[in-house]
Amino acid sequence: MKIGVVGCGNVGSTIAYSCVMRGVGTELVLIDQNSQLALSQAEDISHATPFGKSMSVATGTYEDLRNAGIVIIAAGVNQKVGETRLELLKRNAEIFAAIVPKILKAAPAAILLVATNPVDIMTHLTARFAEDTGHKPGKVIGSGTILDTARFRALLGQQLGISSHSVYAYVVGEHGDSEVLNWSAANVGNVSLVEFSKQLGCPITKDIELRISEEVRRAAYNIIKGKGATWFGIGAAMARIARAVSEDEHAVLTCCSPLIVPGISGRITLSVPSILSAQGVERIIQPNLNILEQAEFQKSAQIIERSIQSIL
Ligand code: NAD
Repeated sequence: MKIGVVGCGNVGSTIAYSCVMRGVGTELVLIDQNSQLALSQAEDISHATPFGKSMSVATGTYEDLRNAGIVIIAAGVNQKVGETRLELLKRNAEIFAAIVPKILKAAPAAILLVATNPVDIMTHLTARFAEDTGHKPGKVIGSGTILDTARFRALLGQQLGISSHSVYAYVVGEHGDSEVLNWSAANVGNVSLVEFSKQLGCPITKDIELRISEEVRRAAYNIIKGKGATWFGIGAAMARIARAVSEDEHAVLTCCSPLIVPGISGRITLSVPSILSAQGVERIIQPNLNILEQAEFQKSAQIIERSIQSIL
């Protein structure tokens, strides 16, 4: 499957590299407004193909997205000093208004994956563009809380001294400060996290829970302090979503897409466990939240509702 990547900065290039190393897709087309950057990224990543999957990695124009099965969008600008979140949102919305119609025109059958922040709102806008031009709902998927879920699983795995692959713990809601860590449903080996940690003799105390929650929520801020931005986690996460789509996996991942939340008017875009296949988002699943988490989820939904209203 041909995969396009629009926006080849830190995040877009790492997504492309992750696709090569994980063997996702058969051909990559890299597009950036800075064509020299796209060319250099394509050349550099193509030198990794002998160690990953042997595939073509080239730059192109929007027309070269023709017949792409997936187009990943990581184009955008970062916050300027003194700029509000809403101003940043407006600038990225302008970029999307310029690029999404070109992508849809060149690759009308492609599933679109969005990484640009604020990812819930950018995914919402992309889905609106798609649906306004006659595309089926479900074909636009945002990375949402897949990265936050990965951070949650990694930290729990470290705490318990077990593989993060064996930890089933999800983050839902906004990809941002109001995200909800679904502690109450977390489990390992089909045993609740509370019971599992007790049996290991290292119970998850309230202090440990607070520390891990804070580390998940503050992860991006902490990484940005040291290196200016984050890209490896999101790169791997987007390649994972692309694999679920390209291999028609019906995998359950926490991604964002437009959906109805009771008590909120109209559709908003946030993350819940979602079944991903070649069709995009096949189905969304109601998370298993306790009363406190449900209240947090509702607050998260209200924050997203306000952001959407502020730009429409
Ligand atoms: P970056 O500045 O390194 O790259 C952005 C690229 O977009 C640049 O190369 C730029 O030339 C390109 N671009 C801008 N306008 C364009 C246009 N009109 N057409 C084509 N290309 C255009 O930024 P980055 O670090 O790669 O981050 C990209 C986005 O990913 C940001 O919005 C960032 O916040 C987001 N991000 C999301 C997550 C997540 O969990 N979803 C995690 C990390 C970063």
